[in-house]
Amino acid sequence: MLEVNKVDMFFGGLVALKSVNMTVPKGEIHGLIGPNGSGKTTLINVITGFYAPTAGEVIFNGKKISGLAPNVISLSGLGRTFQNVNLFPEMTALENVMTGYCVRTGYNLASAIFETRRFKREEQEAYEEAEKQLEFVGLIGERDTLAKNLPYGKRRLLEIARLLATDPQLVLLDEPVAGMNEQESEEVAQLVHKMRQEDNRTILLIEHHMKFVMSLCDQLTVLSSGSVIAEGRPESIQNNEEVIACYLGK
Ligand code: ADP
Repeated sequence: MLEVNKVDMFFGGLVALKSVNMTVPKGEIHGLIGPNGSGKTTLINVITGFYAPTAGEVIFNGKKISGLAPNVISLSGLGRTFQNVNLFPEMTALENVMTGYCVRTGYNLASAIFETRRFKREEQEAYEEAEKQLEFVGLIGERDTLAKNLPYGKRRLLEIARLLATDPQLVLLDEPVAGMNEQESEEVAQLVHKMRQEDNRTILLIEHHMKFVMSLCDQLTVLSSGSVIAEGRPESIQNNEEVIACYLGK
């Protein structure tokens, strides 16, 4: 589903990514790990179109997407969450998720003004989809709560619900359990499994929480200083000497 081919990303003289290859087949839960500053966020930014790579290409569902604008890539079925919570604080949980549906359908103010009947129908669809996704992430009871009044863990779940309302085939999660306790992390792990099982989604995630990554992911790619130093199943990565050395700073 996703192929990263020989991607370089330079910021002036700084080499953030050097000849990076990564493959994520459909249906996989794939983890991208590495120490701070190893290039994980840069790679996600290249995949989602926030940066055009200095060299190399990104292929999604057989089509080259590197060089396309982030909104075009997002509409092609590749959606992401961000490291920092990025919601509309003064809107309710339901309204926040409705915005995700509107991104998908292109439902907008113009149709609200000029096409009242279509507007009503689309508003109803957005409402139903938002309820479905709130139910999916376990937040239906918070439907009418303003996003700013939700505790941190629930705000992160709300971001996931909004992303799911855009109906992505490939879901990119940037540190989904950062700042969460063990129980909340376990709930997110179950949610990720459910995304794959019930909705056939493919998942690529960056995460520092090793227990979470090792128990959840099918395959891992390990970055260090902008290069891939290992890839494979969690069991083999855990015992890889180069990986252990890079995490211990040797
Ligand atoms: P990680 O997500 O693994 O912590 P990053 O991708 O954020 O790593 O950073 C990789 C390297 O690229 C770091 O040296 C960082 O300082 C540098 N970098 C990231 N973004 C930029 C940018 N916009 N301009 C200049 N340097 C950047």
